[in-house]
Amino acid sequence: MLPIRSALVLAALLLRPAAAADDAPMRGFTGASARAQRDWETRFKAVPDPDSLREYMRVLTARPHHLSSARDSVNAAWILGRFRSWGLEARIETFQVLFPTPRERVVELVAPRRFAARLREPALKQDPTSSQQAEQLPTYNAYSPDGDVTAPLVFVNYGLPEDYQRLERLGVSVKGAIVIAKYGRSWRGIKPKVAAEHGAVGCLIYSDPDDDGYHAGDTYPAGPFRPSEGVQRGSVMDMPLFAGDPLTPGVGATADAKRLDRSEAPTLAKIPVQPLSAADAQPLLAAIGGRPVPAGWAGGLPITYHVGPGPARVHLKLRFDWRLVPAYDVIARIPGAVLPDEWVVRGNHHDAWVNGAEDPVSGAAAVLEEARAYGVLLKQGWRPRRTIVVAAWDGEEPMLLGSTEWAETHAEELSRSAVAYLNTDGNGRGRLGADGSPALARLLSEVARDVPDPETGLSVWKRSHLGEVAAARGADKRRAARERSDLEIDPMGSGSDYTAFYHHLGIPSLNLGFGGEDDGGVYHSIYDSFHWYTTFSDTSFVYGRALAQTVGLATMRLAGADVLPYEFGRLSDRVGANVKEVQDLLTAVRDSIEEQNRQVDESTFVAMNDPRHPQVAPAREDVPPFVNFAPLQNGASRLKSATSRFETAYAAAWKNGGPALDEGRARELNALLLRAERTQAPAAGLPRRPWYRQLLAAPGWYTGYAPKTMPGVREAIEAKRWDEAEAQAAVLGKALAEEAGVLDQAAELLERAGRGR
Ligand SMILES: [Zn+2]
Repeated sequence: MLPIRSALVLAALLLRPAAAADDAPMRGFTGASARAQRDWETRFKAVPDPDSLREYMRVLTARPHHLSSARDSVNAAWILGRFRSWGLEARIETFQVLFPTPRERVVELVAPRRFAARLREPALKQDPTSSQQAEQLPTYNAYSPDGDVTAPLVFVNYGLPEDYQRLERLGVSVKGAIVIAKYGRSWRGIKPKVAAEHGAVGCLIYSDPDDDGYHAGDTYPAGPFRPSEGVQRGSVMDMPLFAGDPLTPGVGATADAKRLDRSEAPTLAKIPVQPLSAADAQPLLAAIGGRPVPAGWAGGLPITYHVGPGPARVHLKLRFDWRLVPAYDVIARIPGAVLPDEWVVRGNHHDAWVNGAEDPVSGAAAVLEEARAYGVLLKQGWRPRRTIVVAAWDGEEPMLLGSTEWAETHAEELSRSAVAYLNTDGNGRGRLGADGSPALARLLSEVARDVPDPETGLSVWKRSHLGEVAAARGADKRRAARERSDLEIDPMGSGSDYTAFYHHLGIPSLNLGFGGEDDGGVYHSIYDSFHWYTTFSDTSFVYGRALAQTVGLATMRLAGADVLPYEFGRLSDRVGANVKEVQDLLTAVRDSIEEQNRQVDESTFVAMNDPRHPQVAPAREDVPPFVNFAPLQNGASRLKSATSRFETAYAAAWKNGGPALDEGRARELNALLLRAERTQAPAAGLPRRPWYRQLLAAPGWYTGYAPKTMPGVREAIEAKRWDEAEAQAAVLGKALAEEAGVLDQAAELLERAGRGR
């Protein structure tokens, strides 16, 4: 293989595409280093090769490779071998993590008739890996407790807090019941959490055909969507409390780590949970009586959906093998030539629920191809200024285990050294999407201008930029999108390996991937396979190449820049917008409580009630007090003026090709920039979940995947904890003022360098 590949690389180098314009802006680089960087980047971009990506996917998806499976360790060793064969220094770091796997699973309807759920996905003759049943993890939700319950069934829509409020108005309680919820609209672990809070004793979660099955499109193998018997596995841990191994919160799960007893581990689900296919769910749902569901709740099954409770009664029995298992993180390191103690970390997980072609191998393959390209460049004499760490994480699927335990183990070094974490996790076709730190928006946008979109001939930047314009609603938003030259970076929730880096340690992070043209419904099933991916997704692997080019270039720029390429204008804009949102939210909550009280007083609910389908009128509520947001507003305004001073000084310094900074001054400036972003993740963390330190965004307590911006303030308002909202506004205001103070120092340093020129 190797000689052929080298010849291909040579040919590719000779045919390499035109370099980006030499004068295209490159944040953080001075004139001479910008030219050298351009040259290396042009060589880098020529290396990633769709055939290599396809080959990595073929190897890594050949057998089921979940955490603790035989193939998981084989894959880790194979990735280690690849890294080393490309000349990178690499090793495996092993952690011991709690990972339950099923011993016994029973879901049966016991009244008004009997039906036993199959709880398994059939093999398809078209898909060769779907028949590897002996190695497949059964369908289950990891970190459900053991349990044996028989109870009436209640349908709870998506199982979100507002669904339970609706049920309350209908006079339906889930106390002592088993609930059945649709997958979607939240992190799946939210569903049993909210169900248990309302007194349910068990939870079933099923894939409704409306969401990713036959109502969404043709089902596999004819099309990419979920067949009726397809099941979404997945973790149901209480991830918004903390991520990682449930027994070692906040510390690395090394062999000798101090561990909680399982009985006191707070992130394990409280009631037994089991996922179902649409085919298994249908007889259960059809047996539920009571009143038909409220408008908007019915799914795509050919039945009338009822709320219950009963007469359907379900027996749910689950038993797990609760074991500590090894997680194998494969870590490669390219030492920095000038600043070895500043790290750029790049990662994607390698474990899957089953064969995992889309999730995670389509992203993991890009990591491998980036590493191969670095190997090629190193042989040609490239030396990054900063250290690059390339990671293939294990145990992401159960609960971000490999990345979190690694980050916790190395927390001190990372807090000091990591300038950025770049994550991917699965890749498709379409436009580049990004969530993470607004301070990295400029860097990403500059990089995306230098990578061609495989389908349109536009740059990746142009296609995504036009996509943002098309998606904007209303003339104002469209104008803003048109005028914005940086790509939108969405706030970060959770659901992949960036969580420990961004939310716990405050490291500027990006999560990247192409998508929008790759809808399907094989997520976390046996059908997420090489056959599915190469039939329906990025079949020619050209978006895999674009991903490797985009993330590789971003990594190289972060590792090569003279001055860290953070830009703070986007951050300050985001903060300003979020401050307004939380104020508006409080007003909206006040208004709605006042209106509801008025309607109670006016007997509106009596007038609107249909006695044949009675509803429970809401109770009067206390009207919220006014909350003092002044410290938050002051902090935001301090940040805005410091940002504008810094950006002015930065632009002035770059007018003549970059500031005259000696090595010592450059170090000082970089240290200040690094500190600026860390101020948003103070040690105290968020109320009730101190592991989450990032104050600007967090996975929502009741959403999980979806982010809440300014979560300390916003979630206090949502939960009607007014004192806490005021206290958190002060905490955040202080952090913003602190970031402003650091940026002022950085601006001053640049201004002095300008005067000394
Ligand atoms: Zn994944």
